[in-house]
Amino acid sequence: MNILDQFKLTGKKAFITGGARGIGKSIAMAFAQAGADVAIVDLDLDVAQQTAKELAQFSVNTLAVKTDVTKPDDVNAMMTTILNAFGSVDIVFNNAGICINVNAEEMTYEQWRKVIDINLNGVFLVAQAAGKAMIKQQRGSIINTASMSGHIVNEPQPQCAYNASKAAVIMLTKSLAAEWAPHHVRVNSLSPGYIGTEMTLKATQWIPLWEKRTPMGRMGKPDELQGIVLYLASDVSSYTTGSDFVVDGGFTCW
Ligand code: NDP
Repeated sequence: MNILDQFKLTGKKAFITGGARGIGKSIAMAFAQAGADVAIVDLDLDVAQQTAKELAQFSVNTLAVKTDVTKPDDVNAMMTTILNAFGSVDIVFNNAGICINVNAEEMTYEQWRKVIDINLNGVFLVAQAAGKAMIKQQRGSIINTASMSGHIVNEPQPQCAYNASKAAVIMLTKSLAAEWAPHHVRVNSLSPGYIGTEMTLKATQWIPLWEKRTPMGRMGKPDELQGIVLYLASDVSSYTTGSDFVVDGGFTCW
């Protein structure tokens, strides 16, 4: 098959957690543009529905599902809803995440648990629910959003729980990849550097420093992650599993 055709997702079924805005929304656009039916999974149903509506321009089927990825019952219900609507699931962009900036010695246990619950436990619950369906199908690609913070310690902002959660996502990814490779289910992770979204753009005091410390001298845009995720979602990456892909404008070089 022509290499460019292998990037197409025509007829594939995808869902994206934290898909209503930010990086998740940009990836949703890429999947829909490539021909996949896309379900937007998020906490806020109104915003998820709005994003799903925007995807309709690509003439694919879309769906919005309200889900808290930290709640097993929500995640299982989401999976049932998506399977009922789409019939199968080929691609998951497992992306919902938050960051709380607090000095380690002052962080409450509640704050620690909230970050780990969404960024790590949520990623596991979603991967497990999708993995079960994919094992039955004997095919699928899961892309977990980690971060360059799983590789380095950011500064000046204190975010030990976030960094720990993202490092864990990278190892969880490798573990799932090894377990599920015999079932033709691939699992990889994406480690972005600083990307301009609601998560980062509100931290106006830190942006000049982040830019200075990035060899490319700027933050990335969500759309600059589309290519690598499309690669991982599509059949072009058929021999790629258990890998982490850093896209950070060179930040981790220094
Ligand atoms: P945003 O804050 O813009 O978007 C995150 C989305 O996740 C929101 O729609 C949010 O919903 C949703 N979400 C949060 N908690 C839950 C939950 N419990 N269940 C379901 N959905 C939830 O963040 P980004 O787009 O910037 O980040 C996306 C991912 O990329 C995260 O995992 C983040 O850690 C990672 N990342 C981001 C980087 C960056 O520089 N922006 C760099 C490296 C990694 P709501 O709005 O309703 O809260």
